[in-house]
Amino acid sequence: MINITKPIITDNEISAVVDVMRSGTIAQGPKVAELEEKFAAYCGTKYAVAFNSGTAAIHAGLYSLGIKEGDEVITTPFTFIATANPILMQGAKVVFADISESDFNLDPKEVEKKITKKTKAIVPVDLYGQVFNYKDLRKLAAKNGIKIVEDACQSAGAEQSGEKSGNFGDLAAFSLYATKNIMCAEGGLVTTNDLKIAENCKMFRHHGQSEKVKYEYFDLGYNYRLTDISAAIALEQLKKIDVYNNKRIHNAEKYLQGLVGIKGLVLPKVNQGNKHVFHQFTLRITPDSAITREEFIAKLTEAGIGSGIYYPKPLHMHQCFKKYGYREGDFPISEKIAKEVVSLPVHPLVAEQEIGFITKTIKKIYKV
Ligand SMILES: *Cc1c(COP(=O)(O)O)cnc(C)c1O
Repeated sequence: MINITKPIITDNEISAVVDVMRSGTIAQGPKVAELEEKFAAYCGTKYAVAFNSGTAAIHAGLYSLGIKEGDEVITTPFTFIATANPILMQGAKVVFADISESDFNLDPKEVEKKITKKTKAIVPVDLYGQVFNYKDLRKLAAKNGIKIVEDACQSAGAEQSGEKSGNFGDLAAFSLYATKNIMCAEGGLVTTNDLKIAENCKMFRHHGQSEKVKYEYFDLGYNYRLTDISAAIALEQLKKIDVYNNKRIHNAEKYLQGLVGIKGLVLPKVNQGNKHVFHQFTLRITPDSAITREEFIAKLTEAGIGSGIYYPKPLHMHQCFKKYGYREGDFPISEKIAKEVVSLPVHPLVAEQEIGFITKTIKKIYKV
C-alpha cells in the first residue's frame, strides 16, 4: 500500500530523543528554547513560541489578541475542526464565510458581508500548503480594526512573493502533528513580530504565570507546554524542512504533468508568486467525471494506492456548531467542494516511480 501519509523518522530523530532522555531535562527546557529561536529564524519572524499542539497555538494566539466572549471571529467552514474550536474555547462566536473555488480558501467578498461591529479577528487557513492571498483581506481588516490569525498548520516553509508563511497575520499558528510537513508527533508554534503577543502566548501556555515572576498568575492559562523530547524531534525535522518540501513539490509537479487533460478531474492550482508546499495534493472529481469520487477511491484502493478526503463535511454542518443555526445550503461552494475533493500521496517518502504508477493507474481508470 502506498500510504497517504507517513512520518519520516531517521536515526537522527531517534538519537536526538535518546540524548534528551539521558540529559534528565525532559519537559520544557533548552530544546524548546532552541526550537523557538531556530523556527523564528527560519520563518523570518522576531518571535516563535512553542506549544504542545497546533490547536493550543491557535487558542493562545486568539487569547493573546484579546478575543473573548461576545466577540465574533470569521473563518472558513472548509478546514480541519481545530481552526474553529479555539474560537469556541475563548467563548467567542464562530462566524463562517464561504470559500472561493479556485484556492479552497476564504472568499474576501464573502468575509466582507460577515463583518459586524463585534468582529475582532479573521482566521484564514493556508490550506493544503498554499499561502492564502492575504492582500485584499489585509486592507479589509485594517479598515475595520480587525486582527488576522494565519492558520499555517499545513504550510510550514510555504512562501508568497518571497515571504514565508508565518508572516501574513498579526500572528500565525503552526502544527507539528505527525502527518504535517515537519512534525514531532504532537506540537505547535506561534510566530509573530509583536513582543506583547509573544509574551501573552508564553503566559497562556503556563497557567497564566508571568514569565518573570514565578508563582504569580495574571490570568487564566493552560498547560500547553511542549516537551524537550518533542522539541528535539522537531529540531531534527527543521534541518530538513526545505529538502522535504522540495520533494513534495517535485512529486506534485510529476502529478500535474501526468494527469493533465482528464475530463472531470480538476488539478490543484498554484497561484502566481506562491511556493505551494503540498501538504496535500488535492484533486477535484467533478460531476463531468466518468466515475464518481467514491468509485475513483475504490479503484485506487484496489491498486494499493492510499487516498484521503480533506474534508468530507464542512464545519457548519457539524453538531458542535448547530447552536448558531447554520444549515445545509448556507455555504454552497464549501459544500460542493467537500463532495469533490480527494488527496493523493505526495509526501517525501513517495518515490518517483510510485508517482508514475499512481499516474498510470489513474489514466487506466479513466481509459485515457
Ligand atoms: C493540523 C491542523 C490544525 C491543528 O493542529 P494540531 O497540532 O493537530 O492540534 C489546525 N488547523 C489546520 C488547518 C490543521 O491542518
